[in-house]
Amino acid sequence: MRMRYMVALWLRLAALALCTFGSALLAYVAVCSAISPSRQMWIHWAYEPLSYAAMFLVPGIVMFRLASVLTRWLVPMPRLICPQCSHSLFRLAEPRCPECGCPVPESYVTRGERPRP
Ligand SMILES: [Zn+2]
Repeated sequence: MRMRYMVALWLRLAALALCTFGSALLAYVAVCSAISPSRQMWIHWAYEPLSYAAMFLVPGIVMFRLASVLTRWLVPMPRLICPQCSHSLFRLAEPRCPECGCPVPESYVTRGERPRP
């Protein structure tokens, strides 16, 4: 569980860094446009920094939104072990950890059968 938390934290921090850098590029373009004398020249000149800003902002926003999905994909939940107290969930009769009471998915319930792989 701690590993999941750390992976999610690092993904969100990386996304935040991408967004910060993209925003800084946008701010740079905005400041330069404010002091630029010619609007026609500014449009030509700002095309490259704006595309760089999009290259950082778009993946940053997508990564921030999908951080929890990516975390579930990168660190899969171990089966038949309680995610809260690591107690063995072998031969569960109800979808709840017998040790700490943490609710677990219905698929964990084996009712004395062999556990599903
Ligand atoms: Zn538990």
